Amino acid sequence: MPMLALEDFRHTMESCNHCGQCKWLLGPKTKGYDYAEICPIHQRFGFDAYSGQGLLNIAEELLNGELAYESGLIELIYSCTTCGACDINCKSIRDMEVLETILALRSRVVADGWGPMPVHQQQARSVARQHNIFGKEHGQRFDWLTPDIELAKSSNVAYFVGCVASYRYPQIAQNTVRILNAGGVKFTVLDGEEYCCGGPLWRTGQVAAARQVAEHNLAALEKHGIDTVIVSCAECFGAFRDFYPRLGELKFQVTHITEVVEQLIADGRLTLHNTRSRKVTYHDPCLLGRLSEAYVPWHGEIKAFGRHEPPKQWRRGRQGVYDAPREVLKAIPGLEIVEMVRNEENSYCCGAGGGVAEAFPNFSQWTARERSKEAKSTGADAIVSCCPFCESAFEQALRTADGEMEYFDVTQLIADAL
Ligand code: SF4
Ligand code: SF4
Repeated sequence: MPMLALEDFRHTMESCNHCGQCKWLLGPKTKGYDYAEICPIHQRFGFDAYSGQGLLNIAEELLNGELAYESGLIELIYSCTTCGACDINCKSIRDMEVLETILALRSRVVADGWGPMPVHQQQARSVARQHNIFGKEHGQRFDWLTPDIELAKSSNVAYFVGCVASYRYPQIAQNTVRILNAGGVKFTVLDGEEYCCGGPLWRTGQVAAARQVAEHNLAALEKHGIDTVIVSCAECFGAFRDFYPRLGELKFQVTHITEVVEQLIADGRLTLHNTRSRKVTYHDPCLLGRLSEAYVPWHGEIKAFGRHEPPKQWRRGRQGVYDAPREVLKAIPGLEIVEMVRNEENSYCCGAGGGVAEAFPNFSQWTARERSKEAKSTGADAIVSCCPFCESAFEQALRTADGEMEYFDVTQLIADAL
């Protein structure tokens, strides 16, 4: 199945009427000027070029030969976190594919030899050599497994761990498997056959490299007869739901650990107990929320604005995993949950996505601090989320922020309540 090319999004580029909705929350959802902005690059840099609208204009001008590549332009294109907030807010009023165009633009930049940023090229080399984005020994990928963890000798359920939990946050992996053990879920892991999910490569336009690892993982899952993949990382979840279906129909279902726990609680197979009283606010990771709707291929003709033949199924971000993490948190006695203004499909990016944490750490940290301020404004004493990329962003931001605020991965809170 061929990947879509930049030319395939000409209609989106030409349909943009510069209304600006891609930079702001929809009016009824705002609670005032604070936290009304939705696009981190626009909020930080203040020029229209830094926005979904601006990136569409850049893409169109590059296609028309009205704009030439230069290093400043490449930096601009790679400063976008690919968070998709522009896409969802544009789609709240129009039928356009803003994020798909941004991703196709990055892939074109790579094909033309101008991208990605050097640090992203390094990640691709690391994945090719050691199958993880950090360049760590592949043989150490499952070093986090401890003797008390029970793995099934064979199972059609696999826990896909991902690079960041495997090498940087092993406690996420350890807590996930302990939760599965406590709920009596029989599962296995791919062990040496698990490679990077490919998400970070795909989002930086390195489609061929992403495809290589994705095809490896798909073959490994098929070889082991896996029909259910459990993930604890939002980046992996987004890759399985949005990228892998572009390579062919998936033969397995993908589920997030919070969805598994929600079901275990509903079935009476897991009970969570009182932990320390805390007021927490839940941060929806982009790739578990608005960007987690399964990719649906569409090929046809755009007859006129809003008239696609055959009709197209739009992904407007409402079907993300929003309830499961909240229901699980509510099931932990002692936790009070308060919401931020920008939540669910309108969540504000943590700043780590799209390769921005690696290429532009200062901007990435600025974004994480903005989000932390919003979290603090709720009166919560902790941010909870379920993505190791978000954890990395918030961990650094909270270290330098005024006032005490903690960060927890949801698996930590569940494991503490077992
Ligand atoms: S919301 Fe959509 S149509 Fe409006 S400026 Fe942004 S990209 Fe263009
Ligand atoms: S994907 Fe996110 S950072 Fe990039 S233009 Fe859209 S809203 Fe802004």
